[in-house]
Amino acid sequence: MRTTWSSIGAPSALAFTAALLTALSMPAAPASAQPTAEEYVRQVGGGAHIVPPGQFHVAGRKVWCGRRPTVIDNQLDDYGAAYPGFLIMNPRLISRVPDAVKLWIYAHECAHQFRGPDEETADCFAVQRGRRQGWLKPSGLEQICNFISPARGDAMHLAGPHRCAQMRRCYGSKKVE
Ligand SMILES: [Zn+2]
Repeated sequence: MRTTWSSIGAPSALAFTAALLTALSMPAAPASAQPTAEEYVRQVGGGAHIVPPGQFHVAGRKVWCGRRPTVIDNQLDDYGAAYPGFLIMNPRLISRVPDAVKLWIYAHECAHQFRGPDEETADCFAVQRGRRQGWLKPSGLEQICNFISPARGDAMHLAGPHRCAQMRRCYGSKKVE
C-alpha cells in the first residue's frame, strides 16, 4: 500500500517522465505503508543510509527538521521525499540544482512532517521558513519557480506554474501559513 506522502514532484532532465509519474506518489521499494527510517534503508539497499538529526548539511548549511533524521538515497526517483518521522534526500539529483532550490527541497519535505501531505501547504511553509531563516531571497524564489515550472505543457504541467504563483503569494505574505 502506498501513502499519499509526498515527493517534490519536479521533473529533472534525466528523469523527466519518471518524476512526473511519481510526482504525487511515494518511492516504490518499501513494503510497508509507513516504514521507519531503518526499515526504509534496509528495503532500498544500494548504499542508502541515515544521517542523524542535526548532522545533515544542505548547500553548506546545517539543516534541522525537529528531531527527524534524513535518509540519503541516491536511487530515489525524485529529489526528495518524506515519510512520517523522516526525510529522504537524493544528493545525486539535488547536486544539480541551485543552493536556494536545495534548501527549499529540504524545507518542503520537512514541512510535511509538521503540516501533513498537502503540497501547497508544504510549499508555502518552505518559502516562509526560507525567508525567516534568511536563505531565501527573491532571486532564490525565482530559481525555485524555474525549477518547479515545467518547460513544456501537458496535463501534468499546470501544477508547476500554479505552485509557483502560490509560493510567490506566501513569500510576500506576513501571515505564517
Ligand atoms: Zn511535497
